Amino acid sequence: MQTAPVSPLDPPAHEVSWVEQAAELAGEFAQRAAEFDETAQLPTVNLRRLHEAGFDMAWLPHNHGGQGLSWVTFGRVLATIASACPSTATIWLMHLGAAYGLVHMSGEDNAGFFARELAGGKRFANALSEPTSGNLFLMPLQTARPTDGGFVLDGAKRFVSGCEIADYLLVNALVDDAPAFFGITPDDTLKLVPIWDSVGLRATRSQLITFEGTVLPEDRRCTRFTEEPNPIPIGLPFLSIGVAEAALAALRQHAAGRVIPTTGQPLADMQWVQFAAATEHVRLRAATLLAAHTAWLADQRSPLANPSSLEAKLLANEVAKDVAALGVKVGGGSGYLKNSPIQRHFRDAQAGALMAYSAEVCQAEIGKAIMTP
Ligand SMILES: Cc1cc2nc3c(=O)[nH]c(=O)nc-3n(C[C@H](O)[C@H](O)[C@H](O)COP(=O)(O)OP(=O)(O)OC[C@H]3O[C@@H](n4cnc5c(N)ncnc54)[C@H](O)[C@@H]3O)c2cc1C
Repeated sequence: MQTAPVSPLDPPAHEVSWVEQAAELAGEFAQRAAEFDETAQLPTVNLRRLHEAGFDMAWLPHNHGGQGLSWVTFGRVLATIASACPSTATIWLMHLGAAYGLVHMSGEDNAGFFARELAGGKRFANALSEPTSGNLFLMPLQTARPTDGGFVLDGAKRFVSGCEIADYLLVNALVDDAPAFFGITPDDTLKLVPIWDSVGLRATRSQLITFEGTVLPEDRRCTRFTEEPNPIPIGLPFLSIGVAEAALAALRQHAAGRVIPTTGQPLADMQWVQFAAATEHVRLRAATLLAAHTAWLADQRSPLANPSSLEAKLLANEVAKDVAALGVKVGGGSGYLKNSPIQRHFRDAQAGALMAYSAEVCQAEIGKAIMTP
């Protein structure tokens, strides 16, 4: 059933079916999330379902074969998927970020090529972060030297979510002392170093990749500056919002069912639980509105979308960690057991603030902007 939007920050009525379809898929993904977390397997089945349902192409403009859906709808869809399986949501966000980036930043032929490959089910990943550059993933420190037909990269990229199934990598390196971006096809000069035995978002398998004499072809170099929004800055706050929603739901469920024998009261009736839950509920709503406002700014192609995305990410990251920590408190020993979703949400909630731009980098940028006359 379609519900009319109540504010411009809600998905428009003609796009609500996408949100409903995402909710259906999320129901499936939630069933598999604990197993993917435990085994740190890639959720390929979920990623295939998203592709088959048309979600990979939906936010590309019509001239590239997409549906040109709004970024407001994207945020709601991503949070819905993240609340069910945040690893799936992270890999999918990185996949869209790399693919859409390549379509928008490439010349006409390559843009058409990458859009067709995406439509055909090929997978994309971002190999941007370097061991040395850390958070400043758009400012590579590794230099690619000129060779026939392109540039040669010797170096490493780390935390490449979903890299083991990627057909194309968006890679950056310094060329003539300036950051340059390439869409490369992985070959045997790339080696995966399996570092990924992480605390949270385990199914993203965000491995380290080494590059030894890898050619970054000139004819795959991104040549265009684009003002088209990229899914990643818009989506990162919604990843944390999805985790926070799941953590709050698990907390409420536990609090409703656990009766404290000395008082005969369910935890949910205790004032300290209600006060703390109210605070986190209101902060989560604020974070969701700020993230949706950022997405709306992106829909307007406003230059304010970028600075707003840092504010939205900062708040959403912090709220997710706080809601998840409250879940551990309310969950007691039961929530601390491995079979409880509460501990999984707590582990997953830490990742958002670490991912670039980290919460501290966001604070540094926002602080500089507001304190500089
Ligand atoms: C789950 C996950 C998935 C990821 N997926 C991808 C991916 O697909 N592709 C990709 O390219 N990267 C990916 N990343 C990498 C990510 O975006 C960051 O680049 C990376 O996590 C930075 O890690 P680091 O150890 O170098 O942190 P550092 O940058 O060394 O940060 C360490 C500490 O220093 C602080 N800090 C760093 N710089 C500053 C600064 N300028 N001002 C103030 N404080 C600062 C940070 O806030 C943090 O507290 C992923 C990371 C995670 C955790």
